[in-house]
Amino acid sequence: MPQDTEPDTGPATELDTQPATEPDTQPATEPDTEPRRVLVLAAHPDDIDFGAAGTVATWTEAGIEVVYAIVTSGEAGEAFPDTPRAEVGALREAEQLAAAKCVGVTDVRFLHWPDGRLVPSLELRRDLSRVIRQVRPDRILIPSAELDLDRIYASHPDHRAVGEAAIAAVYPDARNPWAHPELLETEGLEPWTVPETWVMATKHANQAVDITEAFERKVAALQAHASQIGGREGMDEMLRSWGAAIAAKMGLGENRIAEAFQVVNTR
Ligand SMILES: [Zn+2]
Repeated sequence: MPQDTEPDTGPATELDTQPATEPDTQPATEPDTEPRRVLVLAAHPDDIDFGAAGTVATWTEAGIEVVYAIVTSGEAGEAFPDTPRAEVGALREAEQLAAAKCVGVTDVRFLHWPDGRLVPSLELRRDLSRVIRQVRPDRILIPSAELDLDRIYASHPDHRAVGEAAIAAVYPDARNPWAHPELLETEGLEPWTVPETWVMATKHANQAVDITEAFERKVAALQAHASQIGGREGMDEMLRSWGAAIAAKMGLGENRIAEAFQVVNTR
């Protein structure tokens, strides 16, 4: 990752806005500076693994620290028939921790909001802003807030609620010291601007990540969610065909597997 050659005058994550000092070595339009830390927000255990585990694996492989914050513990979801309902949340948290390990993530935070009952409330925006200010990521990956009637399973109301609350937390809440003032006044959490936001499961993808080399790790991460997919035949092939279709649509060429996102400049 290119580091600036000038002495530090501020936080290292404040990205250059004037790259013109070295035009002969760096293309002026270089779109991405590799982030050091990424925060991934999701509504339920397994959401990240369906949409982005391959991408996360490529990031951790590149030395990027990735933190997950998961709003519910999935306690209103499917489970094994013999699992008491009161134990489903703990089971799914354990599955998510195991899945995260498959793709190099060990910092997984559960926010313990009620599964199936999320709305993009001010309280949810505050809680997501809190995590952003705690983690101080250079990049955030969030669910889409869109209602996509062609893909209603991806448009679960909890996903949309987290998507809407998350983008509001990115802009304006987390960066605004007067939004949720208790975060600063009581908890001492300084404002934080996330410069780059990636949205998953969206029709408006503009960025594909080639996950061909990480594909087996994505499959392993999904298999860790045994209560959700246990014993399902053909999981590997289904994921492969989804990923191949994305790769073809995004122009990555033959025999590639990809995940796709809408990358938004939120600097
Ligand atoms: Zn979900």
